[in-house]
Amino acid sequence: MARERLLMGPGPSNAAPEVLAALGRPLLGHLDPEFLGLLDEVAERLRMVFKTANRMTFAVSGTGSAGMEAALVNVLEPGDEIVVGVNGVFGGRMCDVASRAGAKVVKVEAEWGRIIEASDVARALDDHPEAKAFALVHAETSTGVAQPIDEIAELLRGRNTLFVLDTVTSLAGMNVDIDAWGVDVCYSGTQKCISVPPGLAPITFSERALDVVRSRKTPVQSWYLDVGLLAGYWGSDRVYHHTAPISMVFALHAGLGVVLDEGLDARYERHVRTAATLAAGLEERGFSYVAASRLPMLHCVRLPDGVADATARSRLLTEHGIEVGSGLGPFKGTCWRIGLMGHNAREGNVERLLGAIDTLL
Ligand SMILES: *Cc1c(COP(=O)(O)O)cnc(C)c1O
Repeated sequence: MARERLLMGPGPSNAAPEVLAALGRPLLGHLDPEFLGLLDEVAERLRMVFKTANRMTFAVSGTGSAGMEAALVNVLEPGDEIVVGVNGVFGGRMCDVASRAGAKVVKVEAEWGRIIEASDVARALDDHPEAKAFALVHAETSTGVAQPIDEIAELLRGRNTLFVLDTVTSLAGMNVDIDAWGVDVCYSGTQKCISVPPGLAPITFSERALDVVRSRKTPVQSWYLDVGLLAGYWGSDRVYHHTAPISMVFALHAGLGVVLDEGLDARYERHVRTAATLAAGLEERGFSYVAASRLPMLHCVRLPDGVADATARSRLLTEHGIEVGSGLGPFKGTCWRIGLMGHNAREGNVERLLGAIDTLL
């Protein structure tokens, strides 16, 4: 057995004990009434965490990227136009997925470490009034940028363009308000601030998005991720589509229970508080932030002079049992990505990391 690790990178985060216990529950069949009851509760808990009344709210079998793919392939048909905000890895991945689905991709770009400007989005939407969707990343895990949503949500109101939002890193760690923002399709992942192992992707579709899916001229290119087929299982018909990952559903059910028992506001607040302690400690030690609009759960920081990226990360891991992430893209070799996600966003973990960093400096 590997020694226990403190996972303070860009995900996965450590799971709460309740979640690990749920993973070990004896299996049920995927059509067992007890399991179906649990599925309904998972959907209900996801509605609370997403803050939505959307009927079609469920968990895709697969990690966050499967959620991304499910969101995009259901709404896009070959030849459709999509506008995508790109200021890091995950906006880039959305462009890749959309273009593989045959869509024409229009990028609204910003430098890595900066937000997508609402004025740039407004211009792109005006230039492309026929765009089927606009896609945006709420928490860009490659840079630590927190993307403001309100102004962009306002721009999209009254247009036919669907609003697709990636909340893989933000959900259950900072405010996500799907119905208030008028988001049509939103996906997330289990292993970041929900603190459940990687393997499911929570997702929600508005009625407007489902109307768009129903009026497609071509079938959804992915059989596995076709929301119309998945509705047969997650809805009241309970038709077999694919075998649900039973143990992961147990784990997600337990993990969402932990989130809701704590309360969303208390959980957001805990992230903000621990983030402030970490930021003060890092800045004191000569680290500096890449982003001005910063996430509480992901800190992308430049290393102080004299710290060798790979050696220092490897020592943190082997000597202290702490994982932090490397920089990506323009930040490779010069930055770390330190996660304070979900269960891990605690003062004790911050102290442990800062103490370990002190032994390296
Ligand atoms: C982690 C992440 C993903 C991808 O999730 P996987 O679970 O790695 O497939 C997508 N978007 C964002 C913003 C992420 O942080």
